[in-house]
Amino acid sequence: MRMVIMGPPGAGKGTQAVVLAAALGVPHISTGDIFRANVSQGTPLGVQAKAYMDAGEYVPDGLTNAMVRDRLSKSDCSGGFLLDGYPRTLEQVEELDSVLAGIGAGVEKVVELTVDVDEVVSRLLGRSAEQGRSDDGEEVIRRRLELYFDATAPLTAMYEKRGLLVRVSGMGTVEDVSVRVLEALGVNA
Ligand code: ADP
Repeated sequence: MRMVIMGPPGAGKGTQAVVLAAALGVPHISTGDIFRANVSQGTPLGVQAKAYMDAGEYVPDGLTNAMVRDRLSKSDCSGGFLLDGYPRTLEQVEELDSVLAGIGAGVEKVVELTVDVDEVVSRLLGRSAEQGRSDDGEEVIRRRLELYFDATAPLTAMYEKRGLLVRVSGMGTVEDVSVRVLEALGVNA
């Protein structure tokens, strides 16, 4: 199964992605996690990505696309994958389509977690107080949300037209949401 999970910052996308990838038996590929690992290891990619991430901006498509293309070429992706946090721009959608077309495949399902904005702002501020991620200050949180709703949420319409989109409410407990996601996809936990 080749899948994508989308949703605004604070929707619980990463948490649900881990559960879903395990249920599907596919690798969980989080572009945010890969960028953070590169930042903490001080790789050239991490050095380039850090300033964008700290400002709540998207890392440029050229860097992001090259990283994802490389990750998807690994053998563990041959039976499928769950992409978390990618694609976020039209150029990334096109890149993903072209990488998959190269192996005669395509995205099979896209899950969008929906939440209300007040709820995600309060979740993100709570997480910021607990974990202190360097992009979790209030202004940066607002920018990340704005960018998601302006640049990324509209992409779901493309997947909806293709008949691939499954919308699931991200409200409630982690367990509630997991049950809903698995049910909506017809996956047995
Ligand atoms: P969130 O969804 O809460 O913003 P992520 O961990 O998914 O958190 O992403 C953190 C940051 O990593 C983003 O704000 C952005 O700077 C960068 N990033 C992750 N994925 C992408 C992507 N597909 N395109 C560009 N930048 C990305």
